[in-house]
Amino acid sequence: MFEIKNLTASIEGKAILNGINLKVNDGELHAIMGPNGSGKSTLAHIIAGRELYDIGKGTIIFKGKNLIEMDPVERALEGVFMSYQYPAIIPGVNLAYFLKAAVNAVRKHRGETEMDAVDFLDFIKQKLAEVKMDESYLKRSVNDGFSGGEKKRNEILQMLALDPSLAVLDETDSGLDIDAVKIVANGVNKFRREDRAVIVITHYQRILQYMSPDFVHVLMDGRIVRSGKKNLAEELEDKGYNWLREKESL
Ligand code: ADP
Ligand code: MG
Repeated sequence: MFEIKNLTASIEGKAILNGINLKVNDGELHAIMGPNGSGKSTLAHIIAGRELYDIGKGTIIFKGKNLIEMDPVERALEGVFMSYQYPAIIPGVNLAYFLKAAVNAVRKHRGETEMDAVDFLDFIKQKLAEVKMDESYLKRSVNDGFSGGEKKRNEILQMLALDPSLAVLDETDSGLDIDAVKIVANGVNKFRREDRAVIVITHYQRILQYMSPDFVHVLMDGRIVRSGKKNLAEELEDKGYNWLREKESL
């Protein structure tokens, strides 16, 4: 489904990604871990199409197409979803309206009929229940006055509503209490399907306890320095990133 080859990227001449290689097959869940400032969010933003970065070399292929040549809207319509580490607040934009517009844009792109207000309400109520959100959120502005945990649940709600093929979740667990971490993990587990893939970015292994990642990668200094199975995350929790830094002589 998804393959990054030798990707490099910089901002204002400062190298941030130094040759990323990552292959994600249908149905897989990959976790990307790494210390602060290692380039995790940069990688997520580049997958989603944020135009802030200078892409050096390398390719990103999604379902046979070169993502780098597509604008962010096209990527989203084609089924790439990203959950933000710091979700934006959009005052004055009603959440129900926002979600309906987004869901219908995707449906239209796929040649499906658009949902009317009544159908949409039925549809979104089921999704709200999956992330234990109250219907009253629908009447509020997007993320306006939402707590940290509510914003992250709202990101998962969007993922469930938009039905993407590839979901990249950037620290959707950070700042959450234990119940909210479980709700988020549960949302991801419900989302998983043979024809969908997930990349979970995190710097704690806590959320991975509630998921079954197929692979765990460690990103340091803009490079994937180690890949393994779930036990790599546990080992990191035990020994810290400095252990790996010394082992890889970074
Ligand atoms: P992580 O998500 O792993 O904590 P980031 O991808 O956010 O790391 O950041 C990686 C590096 O890129 C950091 O050194 C950060 O300061 C730098 N960086 C990110 N965004 C910008 C920007 N807009 N301008 C300059 N430097 C940036
Ligand atoms: Mg980050």
